[in-house]
Amino acid sequence: MDKFIYLDNAATTRVLPEVAEAMMPFFTEHYGNASTIYKLGAASKEAMTGARTQIAQLLGAKTEEIYFTAGGSESDNWALKATAEAYAGKGRHIITSKIEHHAILHTCEWLEKHGFEVTYLDVDENGQVRLEDLKAAIRPDTILISIMFANNEIGTIEPIREIGEIAHEKGILFHTDAVQAFGQVPINVDEMHIDMLSASGHKLHGPKGIGVLYIRKGVKIRSFVHGGAQERKRRAGTENIPGIVGLGKAVEIAGRTMEERTAYERELRDYLIDRVLTEIPHSRLNGHRSERLPNNANFCFRFIEGESMLIMLDMAGVCGSSGSACTSGSLDPSHVLLAIGLPHEIAHGSLRLTLSEETTKEDIDYTVDNLKRIIENLRSMSPLYEDFVKKNQ
Ligand SMILES: *Cc1c(COP(=O)(O)O)cnc(C)c1O
Repeated sequence: MDKFIYLDNAATTRVLPEVAEAMMPFFTEHYGNASTIYKLGAASKEAMTGARTQIAQLLGAKTEEIYFTAGGSESDNWALKATAEAYAGKGRHIITSKIEHHAILHTCEWLEKHGFEVTYLDVDENGQVRLEDLKAAIRPDTILISIMFANNEIGTIEPIREIGEIAHEKGILFHTDAVQAFGQVPINVDEMHIDMLSASGHKLHGPKGIGVLYIRKGVKIRSFVHGGAQERKRRAGTENIPGIVGLGKAVEIAGRTMEERTAYERELRDYLIDRVLTEIPHSRLNGHRSERLPNNANFCFRFIEGESMLIMLDMAGVCGSSGSACTSGSLDPSHVLLAIGLPHEIAHGSLRLTLSEETTKEDIDYTVDNLKRIIENLRSMSPLYEDFVKKNQ
């Protein structure tokens, strides 16, 4: 039997069987449009409200503060563009970080072309925003702070509660891209002073193409998709009921299993990290050692080119990634690895392995054994490594 080990759960996850099962009737018998008044439509509407409640519960939010979108990217775009528009009269300055997902960074660049000013905060060597930098960046015309909950490449969790407190004290809106953290880390929007939060179905064993934007009641935010009156007139378009039901189910399961599941993943992650760092020379762990997503490990290997390593891992049946799925295909090293201070040549040799509760210790052993072989192999062909060995003899 061919080996297949999926260690790219930060890129996307497998839809859980219970999730697919919950969605199925909404493709077949319950196909009604939720905006209609006959019973068929009412079933869709009811299912949608159920999902909204499940999501609100996991965030400590109110049901009517949950808005459905077509995914994390749309939620990020909406949060930034629509608040920028609504609050432009108050000011035109936005604060974010250098390690955000491109859905945030490219939206900020777009906003800069449309009369807004953006401060991109540096991060420390572990990938965390420094609170004193944040405080220093705040100006009288700052309208929005957008800092991700947890980084999708290196797994570092940001000091969200502290950032929220600072924003709240200054009366500035706080948005967080929680696509990686939702379902992995406990989140409470009130305790953390979060005004807007983005999440996505396919990162927590739900379907692709469905996402959430939490918008605190009272936040002025304009409609992003114009048309019908869906989503309290803020996001038009006939609702993706199967997707919404699937997301609700995935969130319900994620909430119920969080403690046990993440404890398991954390233990396996630490086993992976320990084996790699002790058995593979010239390797380093990227991201915070403890303040990191339970399922994320990200390494750099000197004298290794990331793409070759990934191709050889794939031949051994292991799916991993170098940085993020969005930047692969380009030869630029990851903006996140550069932001934590790694030089280009080291940032090129990165490997991200992200586990799920389906990952086993045997999977990790198989992966590390193959990784050792692959890295030895690649280094034996590298003139740079040869030079390095000679110099250090
Ligand atoms: C995956 C991801 C997104 C984009 O979500 P989609 O649903 O794929 O559009 C945004 N932010 C982060 C941190 C992500 O990991």
